[in-house]
Amino acid sequence: MPLVILKPGRDKSLLRRHPWVFSGALKKVEGDPGPGEVVEVLSHEGRFLCRASYSPYSQIALRAWTFDSGEEVGPEFFRSRLKQAIDFRAPLLKLSDGACRLVNAESDGLPGVIVDKYAAFLVCQFFSAGAELWRGEILSHLEHALSPLGIYERSDVDVRLKEGLEPRSGLLWGQPPPSLLVIREKNCRFLVDIEHGQKTGCYLDQRENRVMPADYAEGAEVLNAFSYTGGFGIHALKAGAIKVTNIDSSPAALSLANQNRELNHFDEDSFENIHGDVFQVLRDFRDTRRLFDLIILDPPKFVESRSQLGRGSRGYKDINLLAFKLLKPGGVLFTFSCSGLVPLPLFQMIVAGAALDAGRNAQILGVLTQGPDHPTALNFPEGAYLKGLICRAY
Ligand code: SAH
Repeated sequence: MPLVILKPGRDKSLLRRHPWVFSGALKKVEGDPGPGEVVEVLSHEGRFLCRASYSPYSQIALRAWTFDSGEEVGPEFFRSRLKQAIDFRAPLLKLSDGACRLVNAESDGLPGVIVDKYAAFLVCQFFSAGAELWRGEILSHLEHALSPLGIYERSDVDVRLKEGLEPRSGLLWGQPPPSLLVIREKNCRFLVDIEHGQKTGCYLDQRENRVMPADYAEGAEVLNAFSYTGGFGIHALKAGAIKVTNIDSSPAALSLANQNRELNHFDEDSFENIHGDVFQVLRDFRDTRRLFDLIILDPPKFVESRSQLGRGSRGYKDINLLAFKLLKPGGVLFTFSCSGLVPLPLFQMIVAGAALDAGRNAQILGVLTQGPDHPTALNFPEGAYLKGLICRAY
């Protein structure tokens, strides 16, 4: 097996079982490993650290598969890691038309591998050279373990370029998914466009949070900003909301939101879809003094890199400040950030500043995070990216 030897003192993160090694930490690569190939990683002193996949083009040059020197990386390794990930989600798998994440990459011990289940179909993403090399093995275990109707790939993401891989999507195995697939989430049903939707079709990380506003929805006028296909709003209607206003910049998402309204038997009067920029539409509402009982803010990732921290934080402040201005007294705001580089204490500070500048007293009723099918390995804190606050404003 090819060997990689680290520079002196650069073994610290692997000793804490963090799975990444950056290219600057590598002293010597022996045996000419190809992209994704398994290498044995040694400290400068020659101590075994892990077996990892080697990625010659990426800043993340190594991603650890195993820290156990007795564990070979081969078919049995992938079978057992996948089994472990799938077994722990067994209660979620009982729901045949449910959707959830089955494999959450680094946090399930499988760096670069995402597998989502949508009813009888699976959708995979392979983000790293190592994941790419073992895709055949991974697929064959998924077929055997789960007998899906079909497996589709949505690796059409730019991060693959950093690994020297082209973005790619298409059918991998079995039947192609229908152009719109119906899934159940709690007591609602949703249409998912696996081929063209955002991510793998749906934002599964918000699966558990989407029902949380139900507690405050009875008789409410709801603003669902960054609505995508309307999930939060449909659940709010189910819980007794009078009306939901969705805002999104994607016409395809809003069209699906409307179809989701029909699928769940809510009439047109209960729904307003606004195609536009949330920053602008919230300003328009402020100027026309439109108020809401319940507001959901679920923006895309504003901070992709450290250099965007200032600009992204101002973005969060801006929309939250406007949201506080649009809340009726006693109204409730569900506000989220999926930027891993904005930790909860910073996000809470931004939201507190927004309430202050909006002239509102507010309190936190709850703190939210990604669902348990998106676990965070304790040795991989980067895995915890989604945070949300439930705030009541007076
Ligand atoms: N809340 C959704 C997920 C939201 S993802 C759910 O539970 O399914 C973020 C959404 O914001 C995407 O649908 C994207 O199209 C939209 N979006 C991104 N930037 C936007 C902007 N400036 N104004 C309006 N919508 C935006």
